[in-house]
Amino acid sequence: MVNSLNKKDFLDNTIKQLKDTVELLKLEAWIFDFLKEPKTSLIVSIPVKMDDGSIKIFQGFRVQHSNARGPYKGGIRYSPEVTLEEIKALAMLMTWKCAVIDIPFGGAKGGVICDTKNMSLGEKERLTRRYTNAIFNLIGPYVDIPGPDMYTDPQTMAWVMDTYSQIKGYAVPEIVTGKPVSLGGSEGRLMATSRGVSICVREATNLLNIPLRDAEVVIQGFGNVGSFTAHLLKNMGCKIIAVSDSKGGVLNRKGLDIFKLSEYKLKNGTVVGFDGESISNKELLQLECDILIPAALEGSIGKEEAPFVKAKIIVEGANGPLTAEADEILKANKVFIVPDILANSGGVLVSYLEWVQNLNREHWSEEEVNSKLEIKMVKAFKEVLKLSQEKGETLRRAALSLGIKRVAEAIKVRGIWP
Ligand code: GLU
Repeated sequence: MVNSLNKKDFLDNTIKQLKDTVELLKLEAWIFDFLKEPKTSLIVSIPVKMDDGSIKIFQGFRVQHSNARGPYKGGIRYSPEVTLEEIKALAMLMTWKCAVIDIPFGGAKGGVICDTKNMSLGEKERLTRRYTNAIFNLIGPYVDIPGPDMYTDPQTMAWVMDTYSQIKGYAVPEIVTGKPVSLGGSEGRLMATSRGVSICVREATNLLNIPLRDAEVVIQGFGNVGSFTAHLLKNMGCKIIAVSDSKGGVLNRKGLDIFKLSEYKLKNGTVVGFDGESISNKELLQLECDILIPAALEGSIGKEEAPFVKAKIIVEGANGPLTAEADEILKANKVFIVPDILANSGGVLVSYLEWVQNLNREHWSEEEVNSKLEIKMVKAFKEVLKLSQEKGETLRRAALSLGIKRVAEAIKVRGIWP
């Protein structure tokens, strides 16, 4: 996978975005000082009994950025590349994201440095349970509600729920979102991020007068977000011409058979070798197309790749997929970019809906969940678009302005105590 950004740059860029926005909005300087650092960063050591009898110590994090607008909310990421800087940046983005989509949550993120691809189910379960135990005092249904992120899934969330509930002595489904439906998970949560991304694609193509039918789409990353986005966009009439994962990509100008491709990926662990032309990730980013969806890691499009991007629209499925330099280059090249904190907010939005259902011991139909998602996403898209048109700013600057303004308002109206 192309990843030309180091995690420290990612954090620095996220803080710079905050600084620029605070200046743009003419907010008090202390607001920047207050929000540039998370409220709490916890580093934990997690001993796990491995299948071969050895004991391995993993390092994990939980970062709580802001709870001005409501409980902390954010996913748990499992990856060998996780760093504290990365989790801090992602926690801050969660704060803005929840504010942009207008749900009463703050921002948080968790992570464990581990390589789940080389761990058994039992090892993953023991790791998840011990990590949950280690962050137990920090989380809570009205305090901090974890959810899924890269390489964590409904099963992981079920273990978090069970561990928390075992310690409490009663079932607490509202402690975590993204659970299996059988355990109080919400209908529609698994595809929610992708559904939000595809709504943004629809709104952006409408705006730019690009017909959705046969619009050519390229997707970088074929995990949860990338693969479901491919299915949804295909159903909307788009032509998915290329996709990639960490091992490489595949191109078919006539359109890929997404169903067969998903089956292939499940069986082979990669999209590489599927029916079509094999291409590298670098080549994928340079393809002539209407829409490019980066749905892999942060910083996967840098200054080396950006000048060659030919897409008319970028919808950021991943968090922070463009480096600051790439963002500038693409802006100069007039690429229409729907930023992460708007484009991928469908996931946390349905997490919020799951939490509400859990607190009320209710279970809504998929239609009900999807219709709430549709209404909220379109509203947020229109609000960000209107602001960007009024101020002559990019959608990213407008989304950051909207989110940060809402957080700053909450901080000020709550006041500083004592
Ligand atoms: N990991 C998701 C994100 O980056 C959201 C996790 C959650 O629902 O809490 O937006």
